[in-house]
Amino acid sequence: MTMSIRGYAAQSPTTPLAAHQFERRDPRANDVVIDILYCGVCHSDIHQARDEWGGSLYPMVPGHEIVGRVSSVGPEVTKFKVGDTVGVGCMVDSCQHCSSCNAGLEPYCVEGATWTYNGVDRHDKMPTFGGYSERIVVSDKFVVSISDKLDLKAAAPLLCAGITTWSPLRHWNIGKGSKIAVIGLGGLGHMGLKFAKAMGADVTLFTRSPGKEAEARRLGADHVVLSTDEKQMAAVSRQFEFILDTVPNPHDLNPYLTTLAVNGVICLVGQLQPLDPPVNAAQVLLGRRSISGSAIGGIAETQEMLDFCAEHNIVSDIEVIDIKNINAAYERVITSDVRYRFVIDMASLKAA
Ligand code: NAP
Ligand code: ZN
Repeated sequence: MTMSIRGYAAQSPTTPLAAHQFERRDPRANDVVIDILYCGVCHSDIHQARDEWGGSLYPMVPGHEIVGRVSSVGPEVTKFKVGDTVGVGCMVDSCQHCSSCNAGLEPYCVEGATWTYNGVDRHDKMPTFGGYSERIVVSDKFVVSISDKLDLKAAAPLLCAGITTWSPLRHWNIGKGSKIAVIGLGGLGHMGLKFAKAMGADVTLFTRSPGKEAEARRLGADHVVLSTDEKQMAAVSRQFEFILDTVPNPHDLNPYLTTLAVNGVICLVGQLQPLDPPVNAAQVLLGRRSISGSAIGGIAETQEMLDFCAEHNIVSDIEVIDIKNINAAYERVITSDVRYRFVIDMASLKAA
């Protein structure tokens, strides 16, 4: 049996998103059914809806920053009950037995995690559909609890932008005394500033947008460097122990490498394509620098991040939209005009 669901979908890489009716499975024994209240709009939604990473599946219902209320649970679910406020991020399942899953590193599941949308369910082989919809069915291990203390619409982006910036900052032990930088002030970047500041680091923002300086300081940046200004870039040569690079498209890493201190690490979370232009290895060797990457974060770590946010009252800075305005919102994300995350109020689906 299946249930009929209303949502918004892309039918091809070039069609705008529009209303779409589709089927979800009835809950299995360990499934949680969630009525979606809010869903954040991640740049990854655009990359995938427009097939910029290749292999996209259509129709595609994007959305992996989901906050909602539990409306029913399968008989084996013990952690959640009807009415609970919960979240779902980029994954809805994984193999649960490989070395990565055993270590709580589900995004790196050896058999491949099941993505919230643009994926295939590992049990029934049905396509997965994301959060731009009224309801979702998710394996209980991939559901996290959200404190009602938080502004729920502003908490939605924590499920992807939040954990994707939290996880590398924790992995590389950023804390008091760390001198770090974030590249790009968008959805991920603004959470990177907030978390690094809350962890006690001295934080610099690299931006191409001169107009974002005051906002960056409000969000947690101690310093702002206009990356298009060679003088400003030279002034921060060999400074940072860690740089979180959130730029969504291929870009030149070389100018940023020179700003890493000896043993410094640059961590890519934005671009998925090959590095272009090539990295000058001299900049890596002559500083014992590392180029690394990171993908979202594990489920236990996501809960830890959400609990930290509840304790420190950290949420995203958002602009709430009706779902009918999703295509215009995509255009504003692409022109770096998002301040700093769009969140869809799913109640607007009824009107659409
Ligand atoms: P976003 O809101 O569009 O922010 C990206 C920011 O990067 C922009 O606001 C802009 O900031 C800067 N930027 C954009 N194009 C640039 C370019 N060509 N060169 C230099 N800077 C540029 O995007 P997002 O939602 O934060 O996502 C960022 C990237 O992370 C996307 O590619 C997304 O797919 C990816 N992502 C990865 C993971 C993961 O698990 N690793 C998770 C979520 C998202 P300024 O105006 O300040 O320059
Ligand atoms: Zn995302």
